[in-house]
Amino acid sequence: MRRKMVAGNWKMHGTGASVDELTKSLKVIDFPVNIDVAVFPPSLYIGKVVEALRGTPVAVGAQNVARQPEQGALTGEIASSQLVDAGCTLVLVGHSERRQVLGESDGELCLKFAAAQQAGLVPVLCIGETLQQREAGETLAVVGQQLTSIIDALGIEVLKQAVIAYEPVWAIGTGLTATPEQAQEVHAAIRAQLAARNAEVAQGARLLYGGSVKAANAADLFSMPDIDGGLIGGASLNADEFGAICRAAGN
Ligand code: PEP
Repeated sequence: MRRKMVAGNWKMHGTGASVDELTKSLKVIDFPVNIDVAVFPPSLYIGKVVEALRGTPVAVGAQNVARQPEQGALTGEIASSQLVDAGCTLVLVGHSERRQVLGESDGELCLKFAAAQQAGLVPVLCIGETLQQREAGETLAVVGQQLTSIIDALGIEVLKQAVIAYEPVWAIGTGLTATPEQAQEVHAAIRAQLAARNAEVAQGARLLYGGSVKAANAADLFSMPDIDGGLIGGASLNADEFGAICRAAGN
């Protein structure tokens, strides 16, 4: 039985004051004990969030990581070892905003994935198709290729210490959510792809769905057999809404 996970991606939102407010509200939520919960604040606020959420079940992750684990001359980047030092346990790798807007390639993401694991961080690998790709019937091929690039470069075993988030690009921040059936179809295909290489990895892999998840649609999505929780953007900025999504995952 896989343990569900709900993770909040705060993206590039917040100020010192609003982050204090949000963590204050998160601290008093009774999170279900049978799920894992994490938040991914902007890097600037990681230390503050780690401090504020100490003693709660909420883990803290980063939204990005440098391609090398060691500190060094790489202006503007943060090494995975530094994220660990700051109290992070997870990191997003390959969010569609970074793939699409910042041009991160599969090759670069492999380096980031490896650097994260080398320092002991759990990468949350984000994969997903654009609307154009979905309409062209390419969804499974696109998602499959994004996953294959990691497996071919690093081996299937690395996915034992990782989480995969299927996030259709057309559903992120748009209010459009994949139906539970659409999401399940892709999740089942991802698990089948893993199973073709290693049945144990496939069975244990946590596959999150992301894309306009809210309290109102979370329970239906999380009831699907291959959906093991969610990666939540906009709705994670509201502690009540995030708490309700976590309760949906715990039921
Ligand atoms: C995300 O940014 O990963 C995401 C899923 O955003 P939203 O929930 O706002 O669609």
